[in-house]
Amino acid sequence: MKKIIIAIDGHSSCGKSTMAKQLAKEIGYVYIDTGAMYRAVTLFAMRNGMFPDDGIREEDLKDAINADKIHINFKFNSEAGRPDTYLNGENVETEIRQMAVSNRVSPIAALPFVRALLTEQQKAMGQEKGIVMDGRDIGTAVFPNAELKIFVTASAAVRAQRRYDELMGKAKTQEEKDALSYDEILKNVEERDYIDSHRATAPLRQADDAVVLDNSNMTIPEQNAWLMEKFNSIVNED
Ligand code: C5P
Repeated sequence: MKKIIIAIDGHSSCGKSTMAKQLAKEIGYVYIDTGAMYRAVTLFAMRNGMFPDDGIREEDLKDAINADKIHINFKFNSEAGRPDTYLNGENVETEIRQMAVSNRVSPIAALPFVRALLTEQQKAMGQEKGIVMDGRDIGTAVFPNAELKIFVTASAAVRAQRRYDELMGKAKTQEEKDALSYDEILKNVEERDYIDSHRATAPLRQADDAVVLDNSNMTIPEQNAWLMEKFNSIVNED
């Protein structure tokens, strides 16, 4: 059976990672979460004092990248059934999902030198094909020739609720639960959509040849069946 590249793009918090992960498992492909890579760069910038009150220390981040100080890789976590993200050898999977990172990642992802670095790494990861990659610019900038491109969306309210439920599920203490606010999450989802769609370099947009999946009213099994049908129709053609 021929191997293909599957590019999954779309808005924040519409379940792209869940579906990409599930699909990769089902068809035996490698799954790459490119959002995790932008989050890891953001965490690096946070830890190194690159977010003063008045913005981002872009030059410092550029210097760190040029000095090859940021290494991101993934290792499969068999217990969780998904890859964990490593920043300079440290497992940062939990930390990069926190709101503090979500609130800062989109401006970092808008920096052209950050995109250049990560896009190059992502292209290298797909050389052998047999990959499911999710993000914002996979079908447009990273793999414009991907055989299957999916553009996922859902209403902002539905996405914020899902994210709220997910973070609530992960919160360990009552204090952590109390700190979560649906309104703050909705605001974050809307802000990221705006920044991601309006940046100059590789903005979020639907590739002309992408198929749209609006999963506002779909269950996970329905979504998986939809994806498998698209995948099968491509690998079985000719
Ligand atoms: O997918 P996730 O929500 O974890 O991505 C975090 C952020 O990284 C997005 O809001 C977006 O700003 C950025 N991103 C990007 N291009 C990608 C993947 C993520 O700009 N390919």
